[in-house]
Amino acid sequence: MKVLISADMEGTCGVVSWVQVMPPEVVGSTEPSSQTEYERARARMTREVNAAIEGAYLAGATEVIVNDSHDGMRNLLPDELDPRVRFISGSDKALGMVQGVDLKGIGCVFYTGYHAKAGTPNAPLAHTWTGWINDVRIGGVSTGEFGINAAVAGHFGVPVTLVTGDIRAVKQTQEFLGSQVVGVVVKEGLSTFSALHLHPEKAQDLIRKGAEEAVRGAKSAKPLKVRVGTTIEVEFDHQARADQCVYIPGVKRVGERAVAYKFENGVQFAHTFRAITKCASVRMSP
Ligand SMILES: [Zn+2]
Repeated sequence: MKVLISADMEGTCGVVSWVQVMPPEVVGSTEPSSQTEYERARARMTREVNAAIEGAYLAGATEVIVNDSHDGMRNLLPDELDPRVRFISGSDKALGMVQGVDLKGIGCVFYTGYHAKAGTPNAPLAHTWTGWINDVRIGGVSTGEFGINAAVAGHFGVPVTLVTGDIRAVKQTQEFLGSQVVGVVVKEGLSTFSALHLHPEKAQDLIRKGAEEAVRGAKSAKPLKVRVGTTIEVEFDHQARADQCVYIPGVKRVGERAVAYKFENGVQFAHTFRAITKCASVRMSP
């Protein structure tokens, strides 16, 4: 069985601040920058991914492919990755955070470094895709990146079987996808910008064990199948974002700050969502 790892960064042990997860080129003029903190966090992210890779191979995976899924998607340190893997890096990928799930033989997806959905209290760096999406609902059920990516993976018949991150990210993923998802909690949020962490080595140890269990359970795990015609709603922080999205075929205004479209299949779902996030990233003044 092949495993795809969707590696995000905010849910990494020790991470509680945007300065730790912002590549220098995406730090805006108003944002603080910390090259040192970012370099340390990406090294720790890479070690957590390596722990998941090791666990997967210990449980009999035949190949592990890692997709860098965090901002800019060039965060993992290639030279430090387990030499047995192939990895995907760079942004503007058709399947985004689960790019690679369409490759032949992928049997399960792991989420590493995941975070809770937008609006979650006491969850470090909780958000959904961008800082300005207030909520995403699939068939009326509020979800986060864990749900969006599972719907895309489900199109290819691939279940999600591991999530690592803060306690609320793990709980939300398991609530949305079921107990088939092995959860590894590496920190407990005290607020959006603080947490009580395990020691990073302890976190990596638990991730390795969780990954083993997640490969063993993959055969009986079920992919998320979203029914054709299900309504997908995206709610923003500002009406100007919704204004722009109605120019996308199939996308309608459904509220002051919300738009919606119908799920046809996982690829159309991903592509339309992508178009919405692009269109909605407008400046707030013309
Ligand atoms: Zn991220």
